Amino acid sequence: RGDTAPQAKRTRTTCGYCGVGCSLDVLTADGDVIAVLPGHDGPVNRGHACVKGRFAHGFLRSPERLTQPLVRRAGRLEPVSWREALDHAARGLRAAVAAGGPDAVAAISSARATNEENYLLQKFMRVVIGTNSVDNCSRLCHAPSAAGLTQTFGLSGGTDSFDDVERADCLLLVGANPAEAHPVVGARLLQRVLRGARLVVADPRSVGLARYADVHLRPRPGTNVALFHGLAHVLLAEGLIDEEFLRRRAAGLPELTALLADYSPERAAAITGVPAGDLVAAARLFGRAEKPAIVYGLGVTEHLHGTDGVRTLSNLAILRGAVGTGRGFGVNPLRGQNNVQGASDMGALPDLLPGYGKVTDPAARSRAEQVWGTPVPPRPGLRIPEMFAAARSGELRALWIVGEDVCATDPDSTHVIEALDACPLVVCNELFLSETARRADVVFPVASWLEKEGTFVNFDRRFQRVRAALGPAGAARTDFEVIHALAAALGSGLGCPTPAEALAECARLVPAFAGLSHERLDREGAVPWPCPDPARPGEAALYRDRFATPDGLAQLSAAPYLPPGEQPDDRYPLVLVTGRRWAHYNSGGMTRRTDNLRLDSVDRLDLHPADAARYGLRDGDRVEVESRHGRACLVARVSDDMSPGQVFCAFHFPASGVNTLTSDRADTVTSCPEYKVTAVRLATPSEP
Ligand code: SF4
Repeated sequence: RGDTAPQAKRTRTTCGYCGVGCSLDVLTADGDVIAVLPGHDGPVNRGHACVKGRFAHGFLRSPERLTQPLVRRAGRLEPVSWREALDHAARGLRAAVAAGGPDAVAAISSARATNEENYLLQKFMRVVIGTNSVDNCSRLCHAPSAAGLTQTFGLSGGTDSFDDVERADCLLLVGANPAEAHPVVGARLLQRVLRGARLVVADPRSVGLARYADVHLRPRPGTNVALFHGLAHVLLAEGLIDEEFLRRRAAGLPELTALLADYSPERAAAITGVPAGDLVAAARLFGRAEKPAIVYGLGVTEHLHGTDGVRTLSNLAILRGAVGTGRGFGVNPLRGQNNVQGASDMGALPDLLPGYGKVTDPAARSRAEQVWGTPVPPRPGLRIPEMFAAARSGELRALWIVGEDVCATDPDSTHVIEALDACPLVVCNELFLSETARRADVVFPVASWLEKEGTFVNFDRRFQRVRAALGPAGAARTDFEVIHALAAALGSGLGCPTPAEALAECARLVPAFAGLSHERLDREGAVPWPCPDPARPGEAALYRDRFATPDGLAQLSAAPYLPPGEQPDDRYPLVLVTGRRWAHYNSGGMTRRTDNLRLDSVDRLDLHPADAARYGLRDGDRVEVESRHGRACLVARVSDDMSPGQVFCAFHFPASGVNTLTSDRADTVTSCPEYKVTAVRLATPSEP
């Protein structure tokens, strides 16, 4: 219909759902979207798109869109003018700083926001408020990737371009279900496998691509590190390593070799539940491939030892010399959300400035101070879980949440709600009256990804343009405009009045982004970072000469396996893993308000037929799931995809209460929640 509508305006933009970064052509007429078409020349998607990017745009016209600012008065949120809302928020921020200093204020930024909005929000917090307490939702998903990849290779991003990964002759897919969560990548990986690449899948569930795998390893949730060490043991024992690469370009082999003596296939099998023979077969496939590639997802990161998981998975690529050499395609995280890479790249992190300079490093602060013209606080700020703890203890007095529904998506949501209730000022930028916005004191209505200008960074570090196909709904403004307006209400200015100027300022501050600009992206489409030179292409594949670590070497990790935070027991005998399904995105705030609801309308609990029989459950039965932290009501789905003793559900329908179940245990390095291992039990709703 869109192609034939003569009056249609066509706007090329980047999908605002998952981190693949598909180019979309949005056709609009009379102020409405009439079709979304996959960009036929999209650098990542090449004419494809999934059910989310193509069809999940009906939320734009939802009668529930927020179109006017809201302020809480006498316990109720009431519509007010922008002036009143901004003044109310500014008064609250001033009061918080007066009572507790700048560190009494914190902000949570979002992958939903553009790079320019993330850049501006972290600048607001550091320059206007004077605190480093700004964090983003990568804390809840790929913070262990950022830490693990930086410690191992030097930079906080995947090592290779997905175009290269697609030339691999053996794919090791770990803890990811791209067929549902990243469908365009899932389809491209499948095409590669159908053309002859070998495939090893490591995932407790029989995820979509597992049925095409040469070997499917099904480790018990929380045992990844033992699995990776078991694979590495076989590589070493059978000489499937690149000795010259290890001698010239890697550090830590003696320590790793000593540790791996304890991880024979039999011992790894005892810990993980993966048969030793399967483990050996997988290691041989990976070890004998000429161009192996590792692709992984949140099944590696969202664990008590998620950073160790990333590092010990990276060991496999290093042992094979399959990173930084062209003889393989490294280690590549699949980012869950559209701009989760960019939010961190832009410095919306409590310990890192734009471009990953440490706030504790005087030289990094000095660079920012020269561009911003004001001192940068030297002490790291609060991470998201620490913000909630500080709100509960009374230390945090104001929290600005830009585009995250933390009450629906953060773990142990009962505690999150207590924190917001205890915080004297909660300000939200939102599209809808989300679970979080309902508890706010000020709600700013904002534009969606289809209504604003800027850039996103996708999962393989490509900057791409985001363009407004429509104007914002009602009186809504872009997050970029709101951040500027609140700075002005506090009597401050942030400079860079347009998104293009914000990226230009960031490019002056960060050498790795120096070659980037809106103008260049408009001309070239997609440019990966590092890109230090406007006249040269960015680096799609990293580390060809040296790794970006202090000694220039890839760092092997000898971290031992440590058990997950929760284990099943007599009282809670099942292990719950949470994840995503194909028709919806995260808390479902957007996709639940589209026709995708007809494809999937409820959070279901997948369980193995043996467990279903044990509990007397059939497909479609309502079932209550209870953990040590909370209770959720779901619909049973009996499935051979599950292993006995394990259950799975998504978190797209917050009313089901899924995230009351999950614990506040988190990765010991980055505080990323342990979403992938929660001990639970089942009951029918009639039971007390
Ligand atoms: Fe592409 Fe992901 Fe958007 Fe689907 S959700 S169209 S795979 S970017």
